[in-house]
This record gives sequence, C-alpha cells and structure tokens, in this order.
Amino acid sequence: MALPPGATPGKDSKNHTLRLGDVTITALTDGSINFDPRNLFPETPLEAWEPYYERFPEYFSGTSFRNNLGSFLFSSGGKNILADTGFGPHGLMLGYPAPGELMRDMLRKGLNPEDVDTVFLTHLHGDHVGWNMSERDDPSKPAFPNARYRVHAHDWDHFSSEEMVSGPRGEAMQRSVMPIEKLGLLDLMDGSTQLAPGIEAYHTPGHTPGHMSLLISSRNERALLIGDIAGSPMQVTETESLYTPDTDAELARKTRKDIIERAVEENAMVIGSHLSYPGWGRIITWEGRRYWKALGE
Ligand SMILES: [Zn+2]
Repeated sequence: MALPPGATPGKDSKNHTLRLGDVTITALTDGSINFDPRNLFPETPLEAWEPYYERFPEYFSGTSFRNNLGSFLFSSGGKNILADTGFGPHGLMLGYPAPGELMRDMLRKGLNPEDVDTVFLTHLHGDHVGWNMSERDDPSKPAFPNARYRVHAHDWDHFSSEEMVSGPRGEAMQRSVMPIEKLGLLDLMDGSTQLAPGIEAYHTPGHTPGHMSLLISSRNERALLIGDIAGSPMQVTETESLYTPDTDAELARKTRKDIIERAVEENAMVIGSHLSYPGWGRIITWEGRRYWKALGE
C-alpha cells in the first residue's frame, strides 16, 4: 500500500508514520486503558513510580498507568506486515472498558485490511490478538482476508494446550487464535525468520515462551520492535521489577536487559506495544541509568 495520505518519506507524518531506510512504519492503536500499576507490578509500591511522572506525563493519570495498546504496520519491498492486533472489542481489560479502536484507526490512516500480507503476532496474550477475526462484520472470518498469521511455535504449544484454553486466558485463544489455526491461516515459526526485506523476526522468550521481536534493518538504520519485553516505558529503566504477565520472570529480565543493550550497541530505535503512542523512541543514558525517550515530540 502507498504511504498514508499526507505522509512524507523521512518525516514523521502527523506523528504516526516513520521512514526507516526503505521501510515505512505506521503506528496504530487499539486505544489505551487505565489501570492501577499494582495489578501488574505487585512488588512495586505506588510511590516508586513518582519519579517518572515528569518524564512520562502522557503515561500517568493520577497514580494509574495509561497504557497504549499499540500495533504497527511495516511496509517493505511491496509487503505489508501488521505486528499485533490489539485487545479488540471484548469487554473489560484489567477492569477497564476496552476501546477496540484498531480497525477504525487503520481506516483513519488510509490503510486497508485487505492489503495486509502478514499478521505477525509477537505473542499470544489477549491484548495482541484481539482483532485477528473480523469482530464487527463476521467473527467467523479473518479480519485480514489476504494475510497469513505468524507466531512462534512455543507460544502456540503453550497457549493452545487444553489446560490453557480452558483457563482464565483461554477466552482470547478460543475466540481469536484457534479459529485462525482451524482456517489453515496460521504459520508457526521456530527461529529467526525473514518476513520482508530488512524485517526479521527472532525469538525473545521470557514474557511468554515464544515471544518474538522484530529487527528492522535498512540502509544502515536499525529498529527493534520489542513487543512486551518492556510492558511500560519505565521498564527500560526498572528492568528488575516483577511484572506478573511474564511467564518466566528470570528469563524475561535477562531478555529485557539483552535487548536494551542491543539497542544501545546498534543505535537502534526501540518500538514497543505499550510504550507511549506512537510507540517509538531511543534509549538514552542519564546519570548512569538507561531511559526510553519518545521520538517525534
Ligand atoms: Zn501486551
């Protein structure tokens, strides 16, 4: 697909389109939700977040987190890859009504779901698969009719087990992932996989067993799409905090530190599902600590 109306190569268009070498990246959002941070960071007292109020004012609403549900469209070499499909229009997320904005946001930005070739799922949590199926028109059909859906085999194995499907996280699997597999649209990956020129998926386990990130590399520019390796901007700094959605807390901490190091070494942008919209930034060092700093401000 062409650049969205008004987009200029090399420039941030209306704060949601970015050109990285020959790759165009469009930030999309399913909306944002507010929640009490203690829901996901039970060992971190509320006061510990106060030093971040000034740095990330967009991320706080009082003491609550205001968490973006981000997706990204990567266009390269004639291919369009949508990374993650939000929470969808599925009631409450962490007790907060889910906005379910993704499909509207795509239309607003001049993007057509029929032009998506690949739906890349960083992992199979409910807030990353919510619009896999065509929820508003016909929930028995895929929302991206010409796309193959791709996920790491370890996530499929973990989340499609009978125990998981019938458990508390099972609803999203039943509604949004199992039908994709039944329709024969799911392709499993078991290692680094080239998705388009300059776009490679690779395994970054810990948050979930099969969590994958994207390395975008084009004309000497680099970016890392890190999915939920950092579930909030503060986790780039607070790499040790216990984050309950992590399946394997120790491995998640290691992966988080490794990917931040890699971003620094390669001077790569860091793009994340729950980093402040539009979701891209760079790692900076301030008084010996690393921080994520949003771009486009
Ligand atoms: Zn998430």
